[in-house]
Amino acid sequence: MLFDLFPNGKKKAVTFSYDDGNVFDLELVKVFDKYGAKCTFNLIDKWLNCDNFLTDNDVKEISKTHEIAIHTQSHPWVEQIPNDEFVKQVYECRRALEKITGLPVRGMAYPNGTYSDKNLEVLKALGVCYSRATQNTKGFKHPQNFLTWQPTCHHKDAIECTTNFTKLKPYTKLPILYIWGHSYEFARENNLNILTETLDILAERDDIWYATNIELYDYLTAIKSLVISDGEKSVYNPSCVTVYATKNGETIEIKPGLNILQ
Ligand SMILES: [Zn+2]
Repeated sequence: MLFDLFPNGKKKAVTFSYDDGNVFDLELVKVFDKYGAKCTFNLIDKWLNCDNFLTDNDVKEISKTHEIAIHTQSHPWVEQIPNDEFVKQVYECRRALEKITGLPVRGMAYPNGTYSDKNLEVLKALGVCYSRATQNTKGFKHPQNFLTWQPTCHHKDAIECTTNFTKLKPYTKLPILYIWGHSYEFARENNLNILTETLDILAERDDIWYATNIELYDYLTAIKSLVISDGEKSVYNPSCVTVYATKNGETIEIKPGLNILQ
């Protein structure tokens, strides 16, 4: 059995992550929705409803089609603050976003992209599933540790990285193109065309799964949680996500619960 497929048999995944909750996020949502792409918006609860930032209503609306994630209460350098303050910065932001959306908020992006080992321990204790930093890898590999998830590139390099992504050799399994940035950068530099050109390149393909960060986390974690019986006669899937795999050259769906294979 090969674990070489994303949901619906797609071979590659693309995810976007935008920080700070500037009101220009609404323009990005229009573009993402037009192309069927998915984004994770990392929000600072104390900046919501301020001039040039999203309102509670905007956030609630965006949460219907994209992911809302934690970017702390007030955007500190988290490796420099007391542990207690970090707990508060994360947990209070999560509570505020959950109050607005009515949904569990499980992901995060580090303000300023920095973190300490101590921060990672706190996030584990608080039940944060993943947190994105800002060391652009220019690669397409899975994170070794979801609490130090490094993206492929900032959107200024998106066209180059997306072109490389489309040319990957078939032996590269489950590659992820992960693009991040701030929507106000597009507004400031008047270059939203970077995003549309990136999505135009991807729109020519039928092997792309557009996922939010948490959907990727859940899928990759579900693969690793599978329990496979001797001889691959059955597979137990303890997650709530259907996993896609290849067996004897055919695509199979491993649904939540016990799966008896032919
Ligand atoms: Zn930020």
